[in-house]
Amino acid sequence: MERPRFVFQASEVESMAKASGLTVHQLLPTLVKSARALARPPISNYHVGAVGLGPSGRIFFGGNLEFPGLPLHHSVHAEQFLVTNLILHREPQLTHFAVSSAPCGHCRQFLQEIRGAPHIQVLINDQEEDSDECNAKHFESLSLFLPHRFGPDDLLEKDVPLVLEPHHNNLSLLSDGNVPNGVMFDLKFEALEAANRSHAPYSKCPSGVALVDCEGKVYRGSYVESAAYNPSLGPVQAALVSYIVDGGGGYERIVGAVLVEKEEAVVRQEFNARLILQVISPKCELKVFHCGEGVEKI
Ligand SMILES: [Zn+2]
Repeated sequence: MERPRFVFQASEVESMAKASGLTVHQLLPTLVKSARALARPPISNYHVGAVGLGPSGRIFFGGNLEFPGLPLHHSVHAEQFLVTNLILHREPQLTHFAVSSAPCGHCRQFLQEIRGAPHIQVLINDQEEDSDECNAKHFESLSLFLPHRFGPDDLLEKDVPLVLEPHHNNLSLLSDGNVPNGVMFDLKFEALEAANRSHAPYSKCPSGVALVDCEGKVYRGSYVESAAYNPSLGPVQAALVSYIVDGGGGYERIVGAVLVEKEEAVVRQEFNARLILQVISPKCELKVFHCGEGVEKI
């Protein structure tokens, strides 16, 4: 079976649009159904698909994720998946996206972490089947969906990088935790790199997770904060997005995980990370390493 695709290169996008006689913007809603099919919502069985376009001309998919056995707030919404997919591929902006259901309040808020968020163009394509009708629909500015927004501008200085902008949090590991060379040893540096790319300007408690599957393939996820706190996306969820985007199958195939966060962090991910991994992949081993800002590597 062909591996599901979550990213389409600019040249492919151009060809797809040309073959359909559509502009690239018109192409987005026609792909929503494909994105929906990649969602994993076993609790609600309500599939949401989001299809986003960045300035590189690439198209990115997102789908919602739900985790039986965990409280609902651990779920990942399709738009959060989409933003995480953009982060993974270092896309610097989201200009347009089409989505299968109206963005919920949580996502309207989460998207505010993107610079220029009010100008992001949104199209809701809630047609169940392929339909010409979606071509008649129009993009509208995100500011119409969330007027009078509360966001980064209310809390941060103008020069603080926002979610899709380059981050380097200047973190180093505090100690090696007596881990012998091997998979977990390598994973901690992957998790450190993820923590260094984490967007946590509100709590200043960045964190990152690296997962390894039974084939030795590694997946990284960076914690992303929201100015409104609750819509923040944890590092395990972000790493699970990476797992799915890179072709990961069932979560039970995840056998090892490392979390890197600050030792005295006021916002800690360790307990949530243990809980999530224990539920979705009970045999997965989790190790936690602590980091500090600007400290020398040991
Ligand atoms: Zn949502």
